[in-house]
This record gives sequence, structure tokens and C-alpha cells, in this order.
Amino acid sequence: MSTYDQVIRGGTVIDGTGMAGFNADVGVKDGRIAKIGRIRERGASEIDAEGHIVTPGFIDGHTHMDAQVHWDTQGSCSSWNGVTTAIMGNCGFTIAPSSAANAPLVIRNLERAEDISPAAMKAGIQWSWETFPEYMDMLDKLPKGINYGTYIGHSALRTWAMGERAFEQQATPDDMKRMQDQIRAAMRVGALGLSTSRSMHHETADGRPVASRVANWDEIRALVGTVGEEGGLFELAHEEANRVADPAVRAEYHRRLIDLAVDSGVTITGGLLPMGTVREAWEEQLTLLDTIAARGGRMFGQSHSRGINTLASFETYLPFDRLEEWKAVRSQPIEEQKRLLRDPQVGSRLVKAALHGDYGRAIGAEARKPNYKKMFPFFSTVTPNPSIAELAEKAGIDPVTCIIDIALERDFKIFFVQPVADCTEDDVLKVISHPRCVMTFSDSGAHVSQISDCTIHAHLLAYWTREKQAFTLEEAVRMITLAPAREFGLFDRGLIREGMTADLNVIDYAKFRPELPQLVYDLPAGARRLTQRSAGIKATLVAGVPLFIEGQYTGTLPGKLIRARLTD
Ligand SMILES: [Zn+2]
Repeated sequence: MSTYDQVIRGGTVIDGTGMAGFNADVGVKDGRIAKIGRIRERGASEIDAEGHIVTPGFIDGHTHMDAQVHWDTQGSCSSWNGVTTAIMGNCGFTIAPSSAANAPLVIRNLERAEDISPAAMKAGIQWSWETFPEYMDMLDKLPKGINYGTYIGHSALRTWAMGERAFEQQATPDDMKRMQDQIRAAMRVGALGLSTSRSMHHETADGRPVASRVANWDEIRALVGTVGEEGGLFELAHEEANRVADPAVRAEYHRRLIDLAVDSGVTITGGLLPMGTVREAWEEQLTLLDTIAARGGRMFGQSHSRGINTLASFETYLPFDRLEEWKAVRSQPIEEQKRLLRDPQVGSRLVKAALHGDYGRAIGAEARKPNYKKMFPFFSTVTPNPSIAELAEKAGIDPVTCIIDIALERDFKIFFVQPVADCTEDDVLKVISHPRCVMTFSDSGAHVSQISDCTIHAHLLAYWTREKQAFTLEEAVRMITLAPAREFGLFDRGLIREGMTADLNVIDYAKFRPELPQLVYDLPAGARRLTQRSAGIKATLVAGVPLFIEGQYTGTLPGKLIRARLTD
């Protein structure tokens, strides 16, 4: 019998520390890294890594896999892109605690805010829990390809404690006690901490705030205080005050966050994206991280390697779908739509409506009137694409005709990229380079029909590192392995070192890049989603077990529920 269950032979080990890579074999025994160096004996199984880099599995710190984990053992699309650990339950949206009878209330919190089909959730989730500890036991047993850690979500917690009142009222002392007891119970079985949303972008399908947004700041302080007694994180989707023009409003919000971090001792984290119309607002958020550290608290930002884009297409949704003239055409079967779009009379009516129509109000990532200078046909994932405005001008046509022509030429198999808000490349670089930010905001599992950000890790390595040389390869790998492992408290992952869990990627670095997204109808109840893979991954291993080899799922289920602060 071999000493090693698995030997990854002859690769360049980029170990996650940021230090220089080196050529070595990696031997795995019982799910852990047993040896790094020259291994003379053969492993029970071997992967030839010559010409490849060997990295720790990537850690995806901001996902909404809470629904998907029930029906997708692979953990796609995270796992298709080198992610071996996903943190879920962000922004207050968990599906526990909740009784089966109250499931519709919990789903109400999730469906619009995170764009997850309620039909898919109904068909795909078997409710067998009420409390958070019961939910954790269920997660433990669920067959999983990759590892998951989770927060307890404030919207679910509040809805569980207060029922319908959660959507309208302040918590009574009794409600508070119920919530705090449940948080304590959740923390003791390994929840990462508490998550919440205070963002105006998180609404229910009937246009009301999600439950966590109804809470006042005293409630937040009390609940986070309870987290602090047990030792955990507080994740939040920020208040609008974070990005408004009035500096006094921003300062008041930041003062509350500083006090919260210092008083509770809890590490605070939330998205930090260089977006919005007020430039000083996001620059101040970077300063805030340093201020909190200087006062003895902790807060880290969750950055994104690209900036958030929506993807429109004729097969999914278009910004024009809100317009009456378009609804008539878009409600037809796809082939009929193609025929109608080729009809010059219909075409000119649609173009006129798209150029001059009223688009109404949109929240979050929902469609709004396009800025054609900032709308790009998705021809390539790494090299910049020309804008619709540029292409239209070159062809001497209006931008809407240009979009229709491009779509018809490709039989509708083309996406159009639109940034949710403006941000420059320099701004993205500034935020992802900040030492108190972790590049981790994939939102995987959410916004499944409009956004595809599960390739943020490949984008970091392919674009910022290989093309732009903004980081060394070692530094970029550190940013998506050891850095998130430390911030999220995953003490035995994110590093290639003897004794650590053998979550690993074997990657052909020269070929590593995001592929174009695809539209599939593979959710329960036939609901659709966008999927996206990264090219160049030879193998992904979880606890030393190959999960994917050359892009093929091996059918294994080595993933685990991570119980924070508790050892395996
Ligand atoms: Zn989120």
C-alpha cells in the first residue's frame, strides 16, 4: 500500500502565502496534505501536474448557494471555477431558522432580492428543520461536492421570531430574546456569524422591504452583541447612507459602524465596490476600514475583480422588455420573435420605442434604460469588447438596430454586458489591491438569470495578473486563498502546507480564463440560469479527492459543512 492516497506530481506549487512558487510533488493522505517536496514512491492515485500550477482551492466568501445546495451536489458554478469552499447565507438571506409551514415567508425574502426562482425553491428544497442547529445537521448530511460555511441570516431569523410582523414592526423584548437565543444556538453549532441587509435594493416581490430592513439600529447592536459573546462575523449589505452625496449622512453611518465594531469586538464585512455616482463615498469606505482598525476593531471589504455587470440577451431578458411595444413581440415563441424582428415595419416600431420609451423604476440589478456607450456585445471575456455605440456609429445605424442585427446574426446566442454602475478599471484595481479587502464578491447562486460572476477568480488571474501584470501570480493566488481563509476564520484551508486540508487546483495558467456564459434550463421545475466555466483547470480536489478532472465531474462527494470555531 502506498503512503499517499494521491500524489500531484511535478507542478509549480503556488502555496497561497504570496511567496515565490516552487516545483514540487504534493502528497495527500486522509484528506490532508502530507508531504510537499520530492516524492519517490507512487501514490495510490496520481495527477500529472507538469507545466501546471498547483494552488489551494479558491474560497468564495460571498455566495447565495443556500437554495442550490439542496439540489446541486457539484456546487456549480462556483466549483466549475476552482472554488472548493463557498460561504453562504449572506445579506440576511438564509432558509433557517424557519418551520416548513413558514417557508413561503422565507422564500418571500429571497426570491426578488436575489432573483432565485420560487418554483425552483419549492420543488428543490425538502424542509426538514425548524431551528438553525437542526438546519446545520441537515446541511451536514446533504451530499456535497464542495465545502460550505454559513451565517445565520437576519431576515430568516426575524421572520421566524415574528412571523408577518417581521415585515412591518419593531421587535418586542420577547422577539429580541427569541432572536438572541437562536443566534447563540447557531453560533455554538458553528455558524460563521450573523448576516443582514439594510440595502434599499433588497425588496420582496410585492415591493416591500425584506424583513431585516425593518429592524432599527438598536436591534442590530443587540444581535451583533450576542454574536460577539460567541466570537463570529457580522456581514451586511450596506445602507444607502454609504453612498449618498451628503457627507454628513455618510459620516453618521460610518460612526455607527465604528462603534459597532469597537463595542462588540465582532469583525464586520460587506461588499466594497467602486460604484455609484459619488466617488468620495466609496473612497471613504476604504478609509473606514483603516479607521476601525486603528480604533481596535476589525472590518474588511469584499471586492470584485470586474465590477458588477448584468447580461442581457434575447433568450433571457432585455432592458426593452419593460416597454409595451416590446412585450407584444417578446411574449411570442423564440422563432416567431426572430421572424418579427426581421420584419422592417415591426423593427422600426421597436427601435422607436426602445430609443424614446419610458423604462420606469428598477432596483438592484434589474433592467433599466441602456447607456449604449456602456453596453457591450459579449464577444470575448478577457480582451475588451467594443461598445454598441461605437459599433452602431461605425455601421451608420442606431444602437437598437445594431443590437437586433448582432443578435439575429448569432441566432440569439449572444449576451450584452451592462455595468450595474459605472466604475473605471483604475477604481477596481484600487479596491482589489487594498490590504483590508478580499476579492470574493461572486454572489454565486443568486441573480441567476442576469448576472454571472462566478468567474471572478479566473478574471483576476487571466486579466489583472497575466494580461495587465498588476499582481504577481503568487500574490493573486494569495488574494483568493489564504486572504479569505484568514478573514472568514477557516484555519485549516487556503494554504498548501503539511497538515492542511487538501483542497487543491491544478491549473494550466497560460490557458486559465473565463469562458463565455451559457443559458441552461437545469434548475428544479425547469427554471433557467446562466452558467459559466473557466478554461484551463486540469483538476480540482476537495479533501484530496478529485472532484473535477479536465472539466468532467467525477461523481464524488468530498465536500463538508464547515462548523466555524469547531475542529473536525
Ligand atoms: Zn449578497
